[in-house]
Amino acid sequence: MIDLKSMTEAEITGLMRELGEPVFRGKQVFQWLHRGVRSFEEMTNLPKSLREKLAGSCFITAPEVERKQISQLDGTIKYLWRLGDGNCVETVLMRYRHGNTVCISSQVGCRMGCQFCASTIGGKVRDLTPAEMLDQVLFTQLDSGTEISNIVLMGIGEPLDNFDTVLRFLELVNSPDGLNIGMRHISLSTCGLIEQIDKLAEHQLQLTLSVSLHAPDDETRSQIMPVNRSVGVEKLFACCKRYFHTTGRRISYEYAMIDGVNDSDWQADLLAKHLKGAPGHVNLIPLNDVAESPLKPSRRIREFQTRLERQGVTVTVRRKLGGDIDASCGQLRRKRMEEAE
Ligand code: SAH
Repeated sequence: MIDLKSMTEAEITGLMRELGEPVFRGKQVFQWLHRGVRSFEEMTNLPKSLREKLAGSCFITAPEVERKQISQLDGTIKYLWRLGDGNCVETVLMRYRHGNTVCISSQVGCRMGCQFCASTIGGKVRDLTPAEMLDQVLFTQLDSGTEISNIVLMGIGEPLDNFDTVLRFLELVNSPDGLNIGMRHISLSTCGLIEQIDKLAEHQLQLTLSVSLHAPDDETRSQIMPVNRSVGVEKLFACCKRYFHTTGRRISYEYAMIDGVNDSDWQADLLAKHLKGAPGHVNLIPLNDVAESPLKPSRRIREFQTRLERQGVTVTVRRKLGGDIDASCGQLRRKRMEEAE
């Protein structure tokens, strides 16, 4: 069976041609899929014979709402979706002044092992498909009745560890006959896989690359992010510099403030030093308390911010949304898994 929604418009058009159908059917089918239909019967402008033919050889992915939590504080909605094979992933809808943003997952679980992150407990189960990534945007939009203008790839999983799928997903959401969301409205967050960052740079996309840095020195970073053991901070910054030179896009560095681990003055100074040659901006994140982790939120965010700013670094502090609904980083999926155990 063919996963039709993972195909580009050109590929679907090719399939129509193979089936002896006129070329414009490709566009029609693509448009239906990107409106979130769950069956071929809903594609009412296609002849019945074609709908039947498609139903015999293709399938349409459509997740079910396994759980949904709405924040009473700010209207943030967190979805736990059940996929076709029973696995679950999370999507968060956040309402910002600059537009409605969905935070989507790229894998079921994660194999990166970051110490502070709930998504990686239990490892990676599997990669998502392009359609399963797209569905998170489509069905969040449909279920919530909210038009989505921005996408962040910051949910469960490491997007660059599912590279080809993510590129295809970007092409799909960017399609004028689909959601038509511009690259400048998309952010991709990575723990810093340098080979893949170099590969991404070649595509010259206008999206925002976020690098989850979390520490400016190898000792600390390797302790909280195992991925650093093979890469190292120096190599990572060299790679970020290359990315900036190739794409002209400034990088956003994510830095979750952890008490007594990465919040010292010397670390702010070292971070400022690294950033001298690699233009970008720092996003300080109040650490979300993960029950399974001994790490605690820092109380020095303001001091750290001021120290960076004094050295010419642009810094923002992430506003916390959905604080009452476990709205971060694999916590809802985790909870359901525990209940099932
Ligand atoms: N794998 C990608 C994207 C998913 S994580 C990455 O590493 O960037 C999205 C962001 O949330 C990352 O910056 C990640 O480091 C951060 N994060 C994970 N757990 C967190 C926690 N408990 N508190 C604050 N930020 C966290």
